Amino acid sequence: MAELQVAIVPVTDFQQNCAIIWDTDTRQAAVFDPGGNVDRIASKIRQLKVTVEKIILTHGHIDHAGGAMDLKDALDIPIIGPHKDDELLLLGLEDQAQMFNVQSPVRNCIPDEWLDEGETISIGGNEFAIFHCPGHAPGHVVFYNEENSFAHVGDCLFKGGIGRTDLPGGNHDALISSIKNKLLPLGDDIMFICGHGPDSTFGEERQNNPFLV
Ligand SMILES: [Zn+2]
Ligand SMILES: [Zn+2]
Repeated sequence: MAELQVAIVPVTDFQQNCAIIWDTDTRQAAVFDPGGNVDRIASKIRQLKVTVEKIILTHGHIDHAGGAMDLKDALDIPIIGPHKDDELLLLGLEDQAQMFNVQSPVRNCIPDEWLDEGETISIGGNEFAIFHCPGHAPGHVVFYNEENSFAHVGDCLFKGGIGRTDLPGGNHDALISSIKNKLLPLGDDIMFICGHGPDSTFGEERQNNPFLV
């Protein structure tokens, strides 16, 4: 069985959890959501001695995608995801920088490949199923690795919270439906990491998250 390891690099003023996820056998890796502080991410990659093969985006918000093009150029690797419904957000990252008064460099992003429900991506020997989970952002995707009972849910779900739905393309009912109909049924034992704050399990959130009970 392939095993995963995760290192979190907090990036941007939003303290976004940029995640480096790698296969412990092969040390093949992917960087999820390089929102900014690309130098900090690059030095963590060197420290971990992993081979990063792709950048993966959960959705098109600035704190997740603002540094993606710079990291792509630095490592010469493709950007995969999110769902095409976030294309407008990604082409408007420089506008988002103005809206949120972000001073650090941000570039509009054009992914090499979109993702859709039912597709998979792999990191070394670990396969991740893709779930399209709109609500926080229209093209938000979630990554689920069954073997390790592990998910990366981006800004859909947090420990004790859910993603905000007041930004362009947000939809509260769609978000609750994504969580209840696609994520929680994967099982109480699934451990997840998310875009902000600590990790948790679906069971913990199903029982105690005030937005879900
Ligand atoms: Zn977001
Ligand atoms: Zn975020």
